[in-house]
Amino acid sequence: MQTLPLMESFYSIQGEGEFQGEAAYFIRLGGCDVGCFWCDVKDSWEAKKHPLTSIESILKKGEAFPTKLSIITGGEPLMYDMLPLTTALQTLRYRTHIETSGSYPLTGIWDWICLSPKKFKKPLPEITKKANELKIILYNKSDFQWAEEYKKLVNPQCKLFLQPEWSAKEKMLPLLIEYVKQNPQWKISIQIHKYINVE
Ligand code: SF4
Repeated sequence: MQTLPLMESFYSIQGEGEFQGEAAYFIRLGGCDVGCFWCDVKDSWEAKKHPLTSIESILKKGEAFPTKLSIITGGEPLMYDMLPLTTALQTLRYRTHIETSGSYPLTGIWDWICLSPKKFKKPLPEITKKANELKIILYNKSDFQWAEEYKKLVNPQCKLFLQPEWSAKEKMLPLLIEYVKQNPQWKISIQIHKYINVE
């Protein structure tokens, strides 16, 4: 049975993107080498800090919660083979969603792929084409242009979200509101979990 470096797993509300507001079982894996300077989960970067945990025990904890939506996040979950975990979750009738920078090859069986590309380590083209949702984090004005470049690379059905980086939200939110009014194919994502004060 595969083990994975588990930083935390918990029941909470998805605060971002297309499934904003839905209750979900979150599985956060340790390990990330993308190096975003504004990352709000820097503790996840060092995989060795997080205990190798069996898939069985990850599933066991999820049994306590009434949701059938699982969200695998990190860190960068695609540093590991996601097939065993996603197969086990789907066998238990969970929907499997991933949040990824796309910087490692895609493994696993997914109902939803949220791609959040980072300038520091670009996503692989295979994932860009398969993404169900594109979430661009805005830190500077120039990131709007960067978002438009990624919009051209994803498939036409892909949902498009712009999200202000939390520490830059006072500066970016007014610009974002105007931008979406001018470019209504994009939607705003604002990390509601931080406003409603849940994990
Ligand atoms: Fe942090 Fe995600 Fe960037 Fe990794 S990809 S450094 S976890 S924001």
